[in-house]
Amino acid sequence: MIDCGTLVYNRPEDYNLTREEVADTNMSVPCFLVIHAKGILLFDTGLSDHLVGRPLYENVDGGYGQIKFNSLRGQLADIGITAADITYLAISHSHFDHVGNANDYAGSTWLAQKAERDFMFGTNADRAYVPLYAALAHARTVVFDGDHDVFGDGTVILKFTPGHTPGHQALYVKLAKTGGVVVSGDLYHYAEERTLQRMPNEEKSTATPSSRELIERFLKEKNAQLWIGHSTAFFKNAIKSPGWYD
Ligand SMILES: [Zn+2]
Repeated sequence: MIDCGTLVYNRPEDYNLTREEVADTNMSVPCFLVIHAKGILLFDTGLSDHLVGRPLYENVDGGYGQIKFNSLRGQLADIGITAADITYLAISHSHFDHVGNANDYAGSTWLAQKAERDFMFGTNADRAYVPLYAALAHARTVVFDGDHDVFGDGTVILKFTPGHTPGHQALYVKLAKTGGVVVSGDLYHYAEERTLQRMPNEEKSTATPSSRELIERFLKEKNAQLWIGHSTAFFKNAIKSPGWYD
């Protein structure tokens, strides 16, 4: 798990939670590197490395202030990994806090949900975010519609969980010692959304409710834990690179 920045945010009401209900309204932004015998997967690319060293007031997008202390590229270099070593790139979805450095990894094979790829390069794309991932249009790409078993052995699976965006996906990883883990992407932002059963109003009529049910069932079936990356309560106590989970 790699620290890919922080979102400074103070409107939990947008997630149907009050300030009193949310322990911390700010959000951590992690990226995930999965090292498998058959290759390396980078899941999400976080906030742009260009933010490193820049003041918060320069980078406020829709009420989300973006700060970053260490680049993704540098943190990968710290553990001996360059972009050329990354076999596969996958993103949970195409919002700015997940695709900030996508262009840097366009030399990898992009594992793309068809619905998200269509959204990213279609007429409904958020024009402000397209430059962050434009290079993926020319990446070697594997397009699929639904769950995708990354290495073909059931240990690393992209889980189709649409709603937040048309082709949102979570990531399941079966680790030898830690056990099963599901990285939520933005299926949840705050841990309190899950415990208090809340979601943004605009997602109630999307596939988010059924995607959440699907993942809750999947967690039970696999006896897996859920990692909500945007939850600072989770991220604060998590093992971060150069440490790792095995
Ligand atoms: Zn996000």
